[in-house]
Amino acid sequence: MPSKPKIVLRTLFTRFVFSSGIAATIWRLFWRDRVAVMLYHDPSPQTLDAHLTYLKTVCDIVPFSEVNTPGRGRRRAAITLDDGHARNAELLPVFIKHNVRPTIFICSSIVTHPRTHWWMHPGASQAGVERLKRMSNEERLGELRSTGFRQDAAAAESTASGLSAEQIQAMRPYIDFESHTRFHPILTRCDDAECKEELVGSKREIEQMLGGNCQHFAYPNGDYGPREIAILKAGGYRTARTCDLGWNNHKSDPYRLKAFDIQDDSTVEWFAAQLTGITLYLRYLRQGGGLAGRKPQL
Ligand SMILES: [Zn+2]
Repeated sequence: MPSKPKIVLRTLFTRFVFSSGIAATIWRLFWRDRVAVMLYHDPSPQTLDAHLTYLKTVCDIVPFSEVNTPGRGRRRAAITLDDGHARNAELLPVFIKHNVRPTIFICSSIVTHPRTHWWMHPGASQAGVERLKRMSNEERLGELRSTGFRQDAAAAESTASGLSAEQIQAMRPYIDFESHTRFHPILTRCDDAECKEELVGSKREIEQMLGGNCQHFAYPNGDYGPREIAILKAGGYRTARTCDLGWNNHKSDPYRLKAFDIQDDSTVEWFAAQLTGITLYLRYLRQGGGLAGRKPQL
């Protein structure tokens, strides 16, 4: 949880952007009838409930499949969650209560297996998660192996960090499951064969798991380039969501859909502030992402 001074600062910032008219101006100029894609990972049911209650007062909530369709004169938002965290199963009553259909982008070789998302393994924190992200995929996997982690090995059931097959089956009538690779590598750090296997293999695994079509993708850590887009297109994916900041409509590049990376534990006030895009824009700018709101790439 954020510290007390931080919460006070955030509250003051939120009041300023809303009382000054800055938030209203941004929404009028940029949001209009476009779709703001919310990007969560592992929020609590209480937090998500509060966010959705607020969100419904400022826009329509649509499924992710409508992200690149023409607007109908009203602001829109879509809800996405990345990775397929086991605790996402606890969110199902919240989605049913609000009649909201989210999309969960799952790592297809982690969910339904007794496996752990690599950055959640103790060896990854010892080695430094940000450091590991910058290595070539082969080096990263080698270093993780030296700490006792193998991405394709079975771990104890108790350390499984992804949704189980039973949980996914129970959620399926209310939630769309799409691809976030097989094991969540940094794609731009993979060689061609690894990249293709992660993108094409994940689509195949999800289609086998669910018996339907997997057509949408979210880039792990928001890292992508022309090679990733070419493989997605050739592999039959229709869209891909980045972590770049912005709103979407039918004119958006379907393989570069933008999002709002929402902090999972945000108060409603801080959530409202993040919907203006100002906070994420400044963070990306500070980290070297440039003026267009692009997430700095690895
Ligand atoms: Zn992810």
